[in-house]
Amino acid sequence: MKKRIIIANAIITVIALCVMFALGITVTKSDYNDITSDRIKELTSVYVKTYEGQEDFVSGAPKDVRVTVIAGDGKVLADSEATGLEQAENHLDREEIKAARNGNPKTVVRYSVTLGKEMMYYAETKTIGDSTYYIRVAIPVESVNSYVNKSVPLTLSIMFFAAFLSCAAGIICTSGLLKPLQTIKNGLAEIERGEYKQIPPTTGDAELNKILCDINDVSEKLKDSIKEARGERERLDYIFNNVSDGIAVINSDLTVSAANRSLKTIFGVKDASGKDINVLTADEKFISAVSETAKDKKDRLFTLSFGEKWFLVSVRSTEKDTIIAVLTEVTAEKQSEKVRLEFFANASHELKTPLTAIKGFNEMIALGVKDEKIKDYSSRIEKETDRMLVLIGDMLKLSKLENLRAPDKSEEISLKNVAEEVIQSLKPIAEERGVSLCASGDISLKGEREHFYELIKNLAENAVRYNKQGGHAEIKLFERGGKKYVEVSDDGIGIDEEHQSRIFERFYRVDKSRSRATGGTGLGLAIVKHIGELYGAEISLKSRIGFGTTFTVAFVD
Ligand code: ADP
Repeated sequence: MKKRIIIANAIITVIALCVMFALGITVTKSDYNDITSDRIKELTSVYVKTYEGQEDFVSGAPKDVRVTVIAGDGKVLADSEATGLEQAENHLDREEIKAARNGNPKTVVRYSVTLGKEMMYYAETKTIGDSTYYIRVAIPVESVNSYVNKSVPLTLSIMFFAAFLSCAAGIICTSGLLKPLQTIKNGLAEIERGEYKQIPPTTGDAELNKILCDINDVSEKLKDSIKEARGERERLDYIFNNVSDGIAVINSDLTVSAANRSLKTIFGVKDASGKDINVLTADEKFISAVSETAKDKKDRLFTLSFGEKWFLVSVRSTEKDTIIAVLTEVTAEKQSEKVRLEFFANASHELKTPLTAIKGFNEMIALGVKDEKIKDYSSRIEKETDRMLVLIGDMLKLSKLENLRAPDKSEEISLKNVAEEVIQSLKPIAEERGVSLCASGDISLKGEREHFYELIKNLAENAVRYNKQGGHAEIKLFERGGKKYVEVSDDGIGIDEEHQSRIFERFYRVDKSRSRATGGTGLGLAIVKHIGELYGAEISLKSRIGFGTTFTVAFVD
């Protein structure tokens, strides 16, 4: 800044001097012409008065004055400086002669080839008898260039001197002016570093002192705000790093913005800030959940296991386009759930054997009796044992699924064949209820055939069982946007909105008596949900009372 002020100051001074020099030349030139013009007019009037036709009239002309006598027809009669060539020329076309002839004499400045310099010409008429003569006087006009040439060295010296003075003055002034500004700058830098100090208002300039006082006031407030913000940040940092949950803040480009201590411990990393999320973990489920949330802004909740530990993972998208992943340890809950599931599986297993025996003995009784009453009791026992066996079968399937960590994905299964097999197995109940059941499309998925069979069978069975006489049910298999879909729709009784979020719970039934009457166990959708979770599929449903239901299972293969 200092440099710029000094250079600008010097440039302005030089420009001002140049302008003054040009103006000086113009004014001097004008004055000089005026003086020469007065002199030439005086001289001409003297020559006109004294001319009486004498032959040697021009011989006594002073050294710097050229006197010419021209006859009325333009012929040069006498010239104090003339060359023969110029004398031969007719002079009536000369501007000063024309002006004299018109009775309006005027001075004319032009370059004289004869004398090789710029001259001022002036002519007047003289009448002797009948003859007319023109007395012309010419004086050299000292050229402005010579004036310029003479004055250039002086002017240049003045300019350099003035520029020097201007620079010196600039340095002195700017140093005085910039010193307080430098003080302000240093003061502000200290505030930024958090080493706040008051800037003493001792610049000698009242206005600057006032500004310094204002800055001190603002700085004081700023210091308090910075301190408060720092304290707040430290508090938040403390909480962030000391909560037991692992927290990661992830940018939309999947780089880690911040990760707390617990999260680093869970993933076994030292520092992840600014790095890709792959640095945190190679777990596909976690990475795909975060990248999906970054794209569709939908929240996700799922469980993950790292070694012996289990975590409930919540992935949420914030308004600021960042993603927050929170990992809460649920190992204890998982263990107690495991114990419960084992009990569930063992109990189901233990129940299955005596029930099968009861069923067998009952069949034998039915074969040996003739009494209609006993036959009726026996058929009821058969019905109930069948129901119980189906229920135990579903319970065992569910516990098997719950104990399975990952499905075997070595085989690629065509779901069209599976769907056709399901239709075949449901044919009796579909015909009994007058419901048409069909399948369309095809997709293939890597996994276990039994799982896909159970998923489609439970959905299709519900579509038939919760339908009206003459209703329709359809299994659609298709691909869209890189995902593979299994969609089962019906135009049956529909599910009220209040029940939709709960029907995937075990034994949750909208209408218990209808479910029982149609042979439902209350576990079908729980099995569907578990299979979906095992394959990382998303299950959604759309339903309207009286219009029907559509279940959609989307697989990312
Ligand atoms: P259930 O063995 O009772 O059918 P599910 O788990 O398969 O048990 O289904 C839970 C409940 O959801 C059912 O009892 C039924 O009320 C409701 N439901 C399931 N599918 C349908 C459907 N397609 N249409 C109407 N209600 C349905």
